[in-house]
Amino acid sequence: MKDNYLNFLIQVSNILAHELNTDNLTEELKKILSGYSNVVEFKTYVWDSITSTLRDCGNNWAIIEETDGLYNNYENIKESDFIINSKTYKLPPVVSDITLKLSSLCMPMIKDGKTFGILEIKFEENTTVNMEFLFLMKILSSQISLKLQNIVLNEQSKINVEFHDSMKNIAKIIETQYELNYIVPIIGEMLDRFITDHLIYVFLIQDEKFNLVWPKACKDERVYEALNKLTPETEYILTNNDKIGAFPLISEEGELSGCIVARSTLDALSRRDISYLEQLTHQSAITINRANSYSKILQYATIDALTNLNNRRQFELRLGQEIATTKRQNNPLCAMMIDIDFFKKVNDTYGHASGDAVLRGVAGIIKSALRESDIPSRYGGEEFAVLLPYTHIDEAKIVGERLRKTIEESNIPINCEDTETSSIKVTISMGIAEFNNTETGEELFERADKALYEAKTTGRNRICTV
Ligand code: GH3
Ligand code: MG
Ligand code: MG
Repeated sequence: MKDNYLNFLIQVSNILAHELNTDNLTEELKKILSGYSNVVEFKTYVWDSITSTLRDCGNNWAIIEETDGLYNNYENIKESDFIINSKTYKLPPVVSDITLKLSSLCMPMIKDGKTFGILEIKFEENTTVNMEFLFLMKILSSQISLKLQNIVLNEQSKINVEFHDSMKNIAKIIETQYELNYIVPIIGEMLDRFITDHLIYVFLIQDEKFNLVWPKACKDERVYEALNKLTPETEYILTNNDKIGAFPLISEEGELSGCIVARSTLDALSRRDISYLEQLTHQSAITINRANSYSKILQYATIDALTNLNNRRQFELRLGQEIATTKRQNNPLCAMMIDIDFFKKVNDTYGHASGDAVLRGVAGIIKSALRESDIPSRYGGEEFAVLLPYTHIDEAKIVGERLRKTIEESNIPINCEDTETSSIKVTISMGIAEFNNTETGEELFERADKALYEAKTTGRNRICTV
């Protein structure tokens, strides 16, 4: 074998330099090693300090049962170079002529002078190796160990980056958003994506009890049992062998305002998950509390903070007044319902901050396409309602068509950090109805909404009338 040692090292280095997946890495290394000795098994295990278990790097990081003899080997190997056939062994300072009969060989993987994993090789019966082979294995284990440390560190920093992104995103939503219906699903989805292997539920206290606000259903009774144990003083509650974690949302006044629950049917929450969830819940609580107090203030305001159009409440007030005047004076009046097409895609592709910028942009175009006497509003989410006094439907259709076309042709600036995209294009669908002098304002907009629905179902980027 001697002449081949260099080849062996070259092959190993090549694999270590290129392979990133630990399953493939172990498989490839086993193949190489098999060309030089009678290897039947080649495994690498890394100590996971969060779950206090050994994990099989070559088998998707599966947890090794505590009863496995590997744990003993991991404990015993610390002071030695090898465990050969269950006995610890230290390499002599120089190569000698000794040969050894091997059935199994364990080697420590060292990081900063401490064992962080072991490498295990099993051989066919009656395999004999010389001292050089053992020295070679020592080089091999230190190379693999560096590679695995690298991969583990990389994974960890990826998670950290995602965590900080989630924190940043939650913080960002605070800036302009105050609708809980809008904020909560974003927080829910963000946590769900981040805490893998666990389902996330968001509860808010409404009418003095916990109401599930995201996702739509939770059938697990144990989740509700955990909720009942919460008090404003609780840090968090773990139940069902730590598979369910309940993290309270605390208001600025120190009261319980909701709860975020993580639930798994498989793994327990790790200490790392718990620490992340605690911080994310805290951040979410700030956002949700702001939204709550904001919405109280805005109930009395008239302008939508994001778009500067009339808010829904103000719009409904104006609608009542206009209907009364129209009836009295027998003037024409039209209602427009506008909805941005595929808006969810804008959020998904460019982020919610860019989505907000598009809403602002579209609102600006709507405003500039209308007359002074028209009454535009942000009706909700990405929907706009416009009231056109003194306007017949034919005229409204012309105004609507001009607006639809302007939006279609506009480049709407977005503030997207992640790509170089500085503006995007969107389209709108619109429904128009003319007031028939017998209906209520609500009924008028119901008809406009029906027309909008038709515009959506018949292809979008168009206007329908009723
Ligand atoms: P469609 O053409 O059928 O209207 O598709 P759509 O994706 O626009 O429809 P949908 O109603 O499913 O999605 C509307 C999205 O608008 C979902 C919601 O996250 C987003 N949204 C609602 N309010 C806001 C907001 O204030 N800011 C941002 N960025 N997004 C919002
Ligand atoms: Mg919509
Ligand atoms: Mg839409």
